[in-house]
Amino acid sequence: MRVGMFPGTFDPVTSGHLDILHRALQVFDRVIVAVAHRHQKQTLFSAEERIEMIRDSISKGDAGRIEIVPFEGLLVDFARARKVAGIVRGLRFVSDFEYEFQMALMNQKLAPNLPTIFLMPSEKYTYLNSSLVKEIVRNGGAVGGLVPPAVARSLKKKLGRAERQKT
Ligand code: ADP
Repeated sequence: MRVGMFPGTFDPVTSGHLDILHRALQVFDRVIVAVAHRHQKQTLFSAEERIEMIRDSISKGDAGRIEIVPFEGLLVDFARARKVAGIVRGLRFVSDFEYEFQMALMNQKLAPNLPTIFLMPSEKYTYLNSSLVKEIVRNGGAVGGLVPPAVARSLKKKLGRAERQKT
């Protein structure tokens, strides 16, 4: 059984993340979604909330092949402890490349037998990231289609503003 690991902050999970997760399930038998605690980066949602939102967003059909777990510390140590065959990351733009390239090479140095696999989302998600989604909700905009319905509800609750009245 080939197991992959999809690590990230997922603050919150978006349709872009879910697109990558579906593609990862085509490559691996099972995927562990590793949700970073992120002590160095302030997150809007706690790790528990981020995990819950991912759980609410995956289909029943896929749920048996997906495990969602928190992690802190070095990703390669966690990945090796779970004996995964590879790390999955999403690539949207050339601007993602520099950071992802550096991370992948460093992880390769730390764990030479742990490959990083880059997957590209559907082009309709290439402009999407968690920060933009939070900014839209903060300013009263609608995020339907960009995040799962459960996430849209949590965002509205957390960031509090009613959607702008249509005039
Ligand atoms: P991190 O802080 O580790 O970058 P993120 O939650 O921002 O965590 O991203 C996790 C992974 O998901 C990264 O590989 C990122 O490139 C990918 N990702 C995020 N948004 C999208 C998207 N819209 N389409 C494809 N991949 C995405």
